[in-house]
Amino acid sequence: MPEVKVAQLSKRFAGNTVLHDIDFTIEDGEFFTLLGPSGCGKSTTLSCIAGLERPSAGSITVGEKIFVDTAAKTFVPPEGRELGMVFQSYALWPHMTVAQNLAMPLKIRKIDKARQGVLIDDALEKVGLKDLRDRYPHQMSGGQQQRVALARALVYSPDVLLLDEPLSNLDAQLREQARAWLKRLQEELGITTVYVTHDQEEALALSDRIAVMSEGRLVQVGPPHEIYQEPATVGVASFVGRCN
Ligand code: ADP
Ligand code: MG
Repeated sequence: MPEVKVAQLSKRFAGNTVLHDIDFTIEDGEFFTLLGPSGCGKSTTLSCIAGLERPSAGSITVGEKIFVDTAAKTFVPPEGRELGMVFQSYALWPHMTVAQNLAMPLKIRKIDKARQGVLIDDALEKVGLKDLRDRYPHQMSGGQQQRVALARALVYSPDVLLLDEPLSNLDAQLREQARAWLKRLQEELGITTVYVTHDQEEALALSDRIAVMSEGRLVQVGPPHEIYQEPATVGVASFVGRCN
């Protein structure tokens, strides 16, 4: 069902245009990655999908639901969008246990206590952390905390998952493990995912399709092998490591 459509998306901050006419469509179940160097507009694009930023122009639709359409003056606030999010700066609440962290989005949705317990166990099972239910964030490794953040994003079965550099706080070895684990989870769940990274290897390893961004524009969209073997521009070629 959730086909994500981003059309003619533009964003200005105080007269500075950071997104220029971004267009892409994501199929149901697809793992779609926005790849590009720091400052190219990846997080702003994701924030527009999440409703944390309002586009200056354009529209975003998920399934039948219009999230935002500047021409029609439609804007659905973040809490009306049923998305799961793991953002760089979106840490766990340190004073709450794992189970309490996961209960938060369920309480907001007024899901009853008994059902909350079931959903929390399900989500922790998916990320392989059922035994850590009663731990506090500081009692876990960085990798485990990231998995809990992902479980919290999955706990109410969102239509679409938005992941903004979710592995960037991990050291190299943990990142490798987390990548393998994320790929397995994606294969099991098949949830439509918009993934943001500046790490080309990560993008090539995880994605069904990659959209390469540069200075607020999409420069190429395609499956990993195409981006790697037939880069559309010298910029894409150098960014994915084909030449220097
Ligand atoms: P990325 O995630 O690819 O690193 P961002 O989407 O965070 O890039 O940023 C794109 C551009 O927009 C950058 O030049 C950044 O400085 C600018 N920008 C992002 N958020 C804001 C904001 N709230 N106010 C002003 N400029 C912003
Ligand atoms: Mg960013």
